[in-house]
Amino acid sequence: MDLKTIKSLDIKGKKVLVRVDFNVPLDEQGKVADDSRIKATLPTIEYLLGAGAAVILMSHLGRPKGKVVDQLRLDDVARRLGELLGKPVKKVDDCIGPEVAKAAEELKPGEVLLLENLRFHPEEEKNDPEFAKSLASLAEIYINDAFGTAHRAHASTAGVASYLPAAAGLLMEKEIKALGSILTDPDHPFVAVLGGAKVSDKIGVLNNLLGQVDAILLGGGMANTFLKAQGAQMGDSLVDEDHLEFAADFLNKAKERGVRVELPVDLRVTTGEEGEVKIVDSQKVPDGWKAMDIGPRTAECYAELIKKAKTAFWNGPMGVFEKDEFAGGSEAVARALTHPGLVSVVGGGDSLAVLEKYGLKEQVTHASTGGGASLEFLEGKELPGVAVLLRD
Ligand code: ADP
Ligand code: MG
Repeated sequence: MDLKTIKSLDIKGKKVLVRVDFNVPLDEQGKVADDSRIKATLPTIEYLLGAGAAVILMSHLGRPKGKVVDQLRLDDVARRLGELLGKPVKKVDDCIGPEVAKAAEELKPGEVLLLENLRFHPEEEKNDPEFAKSLASLAEIYINDAFGTAHRAHASTAGVASYLPAAAGLLMEKEIKALGSILTDPDHPFVAVLGGAKVSDKIGVLNNLLGQVDAILLGGGMANTFLKAQGAQMGDSLVDEDHLEFAADFLNKAKERGVRVELPVDLRVTTGEEGEVKIVDSQKVPDGWKAMDIGPRTAECYAELIKKAKTAFWNGPMGVFEKDEFAGGSEAVARALTHPGLVSVVGGGDSLAVLEKYGLKEQVTHASTGGGASLEFLEGKELPGVAVLLRD
């Protein structure tokens, strides 16, 4: 993928409009509860400031649905960014209009201005050309560093590129390189570990990865459907009855292609909230019991297969990791991914939450910041926010 990058542009003395992903969680007081997304964009902002640009940042936050929602203003984000950068960050209360234009006009090289939540305007998500043009009029260059929203064709992620020279920021470039490399030239053996609740969420990724990987290790609620499709008794486990046929077909297709698909051999099951917990053979989950995690034998086997691989991709927890007693399978997979010499890429909000829970986020090769975007990328779809950054 031939991405136009920030380093290919002459930015000295220029006004640069940067789409960032500052869609951070807020606490009850409206303060930034987790600043990882702000930190992830610092390299791009610092690069631009160092190269002599005046930096105008824009982002969405939450779902204001086209109206001003005071709780979703970006003031505390500006404060936190200022602390991280060690310099003041100017903030305006809208993202278009005369006052914004004036603030942008007066901004000097080395200074930072943060615009107000883009989604206060319905035109943002509609990718309205006039709105995109107004945003573009604030600057001379457009940089997109918001990989997490690159799967959306919005005014700030795609539309603006029609009016300004466009390039990818450093975070965007890192994401595309890491995810792109596992799709185009992974070192083999390449193993994909897929879990999560529902098969329907993962069909695109399963199908696309089938063409790249040597083995697929299935876990989580999703594996129940595959087990049942092979004739296992699943008791009261979550099973997606509408996708039994897909699962059976997929297993056949994998066999024809020589891709090894592993299903759990044992499962950690429970009778319900506060109920009993035990480990059973994955072929025989008794009635009244449901699968909550892969069992210890499965966890060990998956960890061994991951450690023997050269490349591994993980999406979707192996169990209901939100409860400690059902987090063991996900923890085993996460720890195996930190094996020395292994190129490990992790995508998905809940999978990242597992890495964070065990302090392993910095120990995998690449933990993608884009939940939905990373999955769509791995499904082989063209992301609108990336398409506008490619060389002709
Ligand atoms: P990601 O956000 O990493 O893409 P998903 O959203 O697909 O992951 O899946 C995460 C969810 O799957 C978690 O909320 C987890 O509790 C749930 N889950 C995993 N295993 C099971 C299971 N056996 N039964 C029910 N839910 C499960
Ligand atoms: Mg999720």
